[in-house]
Amino acid sequence: MTNGVKREGSQALVPSAGMEALGRAIFAKAGCSPEEADRIARRLTGANLRGHDSHGVIRIPRYVQWIGDGVQVPNQTVTLLLDQPSFAIVDGRYGFGQSIGEQTVDIGIARAKKRGVAVTALRNSGHLGRIGDWAERAAAQNIVSIHMVNVRGSLLVAPYGSLSRRMGTSPFCAGIPVAGGEPIILDFATSLVAEGKALVALKGGKPLPHGSLVDGDGNLTADPSPLYGTVPPNGYPDANNGPGALRAFGDHKGSGMNFLMEMMAGALGGSGTAGAIGEPKRRRFCNGMFSFYVDAAAFDTENAFAAEVKSYVDFVKSATPTTPGGEVLVPGEKERATLAERTAKGLPLAVEAWDDILNTARKLGIGEADIEAAVGGPV
Ligand code: NAD
Repeated sequence: MTNGVKREGSQALVPSAGMEALGRAIFAKAGCSPEEADRIARRLTGANLRGHDSHGVIRIPRYVQWIGDGVQVPNQTVTLLLDQPSFAIVDGRYGFGQSIGEQTVDIGIARAKKRGVAVTALRNSGHLGRIGDWAERAAAQNIVSIHMVNVRGSLLVAPYGSLSRRMGTSPFCAGIPVAGGEPIILDFATSLVAEGKALVALKGGKPLPHGSLVDGDGNLTADPSPLYGTVPPNGYPDANNGPGALRAFGDHKGSGMNFLMEMMAGALGGSGTAGAIGEPKRRRFCNGMFSFYVDAAAFDTENAFAAEVKSYVDFVKSATPTTPGGEVLVPGEKERATLAERTAKGLPLAVEAWDDILNTARKLGIGEADIEAAVGGPV
C-alpha cells in the first residue's frame, strides 16, 4: 500500500499502484469488464510510467466521456473480416484499443510464428494508446514488428507548408527484440508533438517546444490554445475546436511520413483516412493500424541477429555526446529510465489533470472512501 498523493504547488505525485487501482475502479464503474478495466488502467498508467503522459491517465475523463457518447464501446472482441495464413483483416468494432490492440497483435504474432512473416490490418479500433505497447508485446515473443497507425476522423495536423488541418497525429512504431535484454522500441507521433502533449501543456503540465503549432493566422507558436479554442467552464478541452493546427515533425519529411500512415492504415488497411472529400461530416473517430510481424528466428540463418543487434547498440552508445557528461540513447532507453524512476517515486501529474480524474470517479458515483482506498491514502 502507498501513502496517497503528495500535492506540491501545481503538481500531484500519484503512486502508480494507486493510479492503476483507481483507473480499474473507474472503468469497471463505466461498464468495462474487470479484465478490460485492468487492461485500460494498466496501459494508461504504463504510458505515464514511461514518460508518455500524453497517452496516459490524462485520457481517463475523455475515455469515460467516449463511452457515454458511444465513441468507444466496452468489452468488444475483434472480428476477423479476412483470415489468411499470413495475414488478417481485423475489425475492432470500436472497442477499447487496450483490448482490441492486444487481440490483433496476438493474431499477428501467431501467424508470424507459423509462417515467418505476417501482416494484420486493423480497422475501427478505439484509441490504441501508446503504440509501443504493441511492439513490446511482439518483441517479447522474439517478433520484430512495425506498426503504422492513422486516426480516422481526427484532423489536427497541418501538412507541410499549410495552416489547414488535413491529418491526424498518426504514430509510427517499430520494435526489435534483444535476446536476454530489453527490446529496442521506436515509437513516435508524426506530428511534432502528440495531441495529448498539447493537452498536458494546456492543463499546466510540461510546456511545448516553439513551433509545435501553427495558429489560425499562420504564426508558429508553443501555445496549445489555438488547438482547443475557448474551453467552456467545466467543459473538457476539445482539440477539434481551435482555429490552429499541430505541425508535422521534420518539415516535408515528417509530413510525408504522416501521409504514408494514411495510405497504409487508412487506405490499404481499409480503416479510412483522416478525412475524405465528399463526406460532409467528420468521419467517425477510430484508430487504424497496419502492422508487419517478422519472426526473428526464421530469418536468423547464421544465428547472428542477437550479437549484431547488441554490438550495434554498443557502437552507437559509444558515440561522443555533444554535451559533456551526456548520454547517447537508443530508441526505448529513455522510456525504460523513466519507468524505473517513476515506479520508485510516483507519477507527476498536473494538479488540474489529477483533479479531472478524481471528478470523473466522483461523477461515476465512486465515493471518497473508495477513492482513498484505491489510491492508498489522501488524494
Ligand atoms: P517522443 O517525441 O517522445 O519520441 C519517442 C521516441 O523517441 C521513443 O522511441 C524514444 O525512445 C525516442 N527518444 C526519445 N528521446 C530520445 C533520445 N534522447 N535519444 C534517442 N531516442 C530518443 O514521442 P511522441 O511523438 O510524443 O509520441 C508519444 C506517444 O504517443 C507514443 O507512444 C505514440 O505511440 C503515441 N501516439 C498515439 C496515437 C494514437 O492515435 N493512438 C497518436 C499519436 C501518438
